[in-house]
Amino acid sequence: MEYFSSTVHEALRMLEAGEVSSVALTESVLNRIDAVEPTVRAYLTLDREGALRQAEQADIARKKGQAGPLCGIPVAVKDALCTTTMPTTCGSRMLEHFVAPYEATVMTKLAQAGSVLLGKLAMDEFAMGSTGENCAFKVPTNPWKPGYVAGGSSGGAAAAVAADQCMASLGSDTGGSVRQPASLCGTVGMKPTYGRVSRNGLVPLASSLDQIGPLTKDVRDCALIMNTICGYDPQDSTSIDKPVPDFRTSLQDGLKGIKIGIPREYFGQGLDPEVDQAVRQGMAMLEEAGAELVEVSLPHTDYCVAVYYLISPAEASSNLARFDGVRYGFRDRSTDSLIEMYNQTRSHGFGEEVKRRILIGTYALSAGYYDAFYKKASQVRTLIKEDLSRAFALCDVLASPVTPTPAWKIGDRSDDLVALYLSDILTLSANLAGIPGMSTPCGFSLDGLPIGMQLQAAHFNEAVLLRAAHNLEQRAGVVGKKPALV
Ligand code: GLN
Repeated sequence: MEYFSSTVHEALRMLEAGEVSSVALTESVLNRIDAVEPTVRAYLTLDREGALRQAEQADIARKKGQAGPLCGIPVAVKDALCTTTMPTTCGSRMLEHFVAPYEATVMTKLAQAGSVLLGKLAMDEFAMGSTGENCAFKVPTNPWKPGYVAGGSSGGAAAAVAADQCMASLGSDTGGSVRQPASLCGTVGMKPTYGRVSRNGLVPLASSLDQIGPLTKDVRDCALIMNTICGYDPQDSTSIDKPVPDFRTSLQDGLKGIKIGIPREYFGQGLDPEVDQAVRQGMAMLEEAGAELVEVSLPHTDYCVAVYYLISPAEASSNLARFDGVRYGFRDRSTDSLIEMYNQTRSHGFGEEVKRRILIGTYALSAGYYDAFYKKASQVRTLIKEDLSRAFALCDVLASPVTPTPAWKIGDRSDDLVALYLSDILTLSANLAGIPGMSTPCGFSLDGLPIGMQLQAAHFNEAVLLRAAHNLEQRAGVVGKKPALV
């Protein structure tokens, strides 16, 4: 086995046993990147020297008996997380050469745990998209089928993990952006409860929905990264001061006594038969592990897309107002007029999708329309939350597909935005309600494309998700299967 293909927990075992050094692990992953990056296109910034330097320091720390929980593990993160040693572009021309003056809390936590930062991963511009195609610099490909989408917006983060170009990564999830690419690329991906992980230093898309979460090769690794990144942070006013359990502890437990709810509305029109079949087989595995399956209803599911595509652009339009060419980022210098400078900067700095959403969001918030759009959407958001509370009175975990279809060809859906937005339907309610959700591989399509199962739980109940996901993973036989890239 080559080092690059190992999971975080396998690599930690090897490091602890002195079978490998962090420098050797990091070199192995860097070689892997050299071999497959021309195909996968996941990295926007790769910091070779910095990574090797950190790996050397990790080896020294380990020798001194000062190894943190991720000491010497090479990781990479979505380019929406602020770092002071390399640019943070958010996939946008607007921030092409921007180096943040402070780092995200999760980056500090990863560094304190001893991990090695390889670089920053491709994403849809400002996290708007589900394919990776909205990135201004690079469109990642699906390692299982080059030429197919890796998903989005954390497409690079999923592709890099699936292609063994890092041992684990972090993405952000506003409407599915960790879970959907995880599902399409066959990795594990979790969106924690809103407030569980500090958003300080995450370039915001929609502040009431955004959460940072891990993408990993297996469920145990997801628990390990969660242990590192969760916790209260006074720098994020929405962060919640609640004890963080050791997420590894209940992984081994079976599912006896656990009720798994199957939301009727999540198996509706537009669901690909292969996805339907793989997810139903996954549910049978959960049942075998001791869980009881119960049918539940989430009657307001049909409104999720409309509600999300009002609230998210509305919040995005105010968050993106800061990009005016004055303080930082791109500035169009072709004019002397201040107003023209704003216009030209925003016209040239932002891509099409970002501009479209700024227009939608500004309209939805404007005087006279606010009540009809933003306020109404917020009211329906409450109904969606109430559906979930009622469901969690009847079950511990909800199981469903993550996305209605496996990955598709790059370019195939670029002309049909409504279809693209609609394909987010199964992941949006977790963000609207603030609950945790995750994607775990449960099978493959006949074409060899991965299919994920989504598990969702009540607020702060990530532990039960990880436990159910671990049971699924043990039975699904997907872990350890690798795409044939080179
Ligand atoms: N696909 C959704 C969108 O385009 C979700 C994005 C996200 O979670 N960042 O907005």
